[in-house]
Amino acid sequence: MAETLSALLKAPGVAGFDEVSYDDKERLFEQVNTDMRFEDYLYGCYECGICVAVCPSARFYDFSPRRIAQAVAREDVELVYQQMEEDIWECSQCFSCVRCPRANNPGGIILIMREVAINNGMASAKQALEGYSRIIYKIMSTGTQVSPDMLQPDAFPDWGPEVKDVSDNLDLWRRMLPPETMHTTSMSWEVADKTLVELYLIWFETGALDMIKQVDEGLHMILEELMEERLEEMGIER
Ligand code: SF4
Ligand code: SF4
Repeated sequence: MAETLSALLKAPGVAGFDEVSYDDKERLFEQVNTDMRFEDYLYGCYECGICVAVCPSARFYDFSPRRIAQAVAREDVELVYQQMEEDIWECSQCFSCVRCPRANNPGGIILIMREVAINNGMASAKQALEGYSRIIYKIMSTGTQVSPDMLQPDAFPDWGPEVKDVSDNLDLWRRMLPPETMHTTSMSWEVADKTLVELYLIWFETGALDMIKQVDEGLHMILEELMEERLEEMGIER
C-alpha cells in the first residue's frame, strides 16, 4: 500500500527510474497484476500490432498499447514502472484496442496501472491530473460532464493558449463533433437527486473519492464536504 512505498515515488517531479528501489517497483507491479480485473484484460500477446493500428494516441504520441501489453505479459517490472511514470498518461481511454485478436484489453490494463499510480500518490499521477481539478470537481459534484462552453481561458488559465484556441473556435469544434450536442452550461442535462445520491455513495464506497485525496488533498476536502452535506440534507446516512 501507499505507506509502504518509498517516499521517492511521491517526490515532486518525476523521480529518476534508478532512484526507486526494485522492491518498490515490484510492489507496484504486484498491485497491477493482482487486481481482480487483470486476468480478464490480458491473455498473452501475439505482437500483431492491431491495437497500435487502431489506437488514436499512438498516432500522435510516442505511445504503443502493444508495448504496454508486452511489458505486463513479460512481467518486466522495470519497464512497467517506466510506463507508469510516462506512457500510461498518453492513453485516451477510448478502448478501440479491444479489437485485439487475443482478447486483451490494453486500455483496461492501462486503467489499472493508472489507478495503482494514483493510489500510491506517484508524482506522474499528480502531474497528469494537475490541470483537471475543475473538471473532476464538476463531474463528481454534479454528476454531469464538462460542457464545451465551459472551456474558456478565464476558467482554465492553467491550460495555457490551447484553451483560448478552443474557445475562439467553439462553433467549429462543435460542428465537428457529431451528433450535435446540447451539453452547454445552460443546457446540460439535469441529474435527478436520487441519481446524484447514488453516485455520491458509489464514490464514497468504492474508494474513488479516496483516490482524489492521493493526488489533490484540497479538492478531496471540498468534494467530501459537499457530498456529505448533500447526503445529510437528503436524510441519507453512510
Ligand atoms: S492487438 Fe493484442 S495481441 Fe496484438 S499486439 Fe496488441 S495486445 Fe498484442
Ligand atoms: S484505450 Fe488507450 S491504448 Fe486503447 S486504443 Fe484507446 S487510447 Fe489506445
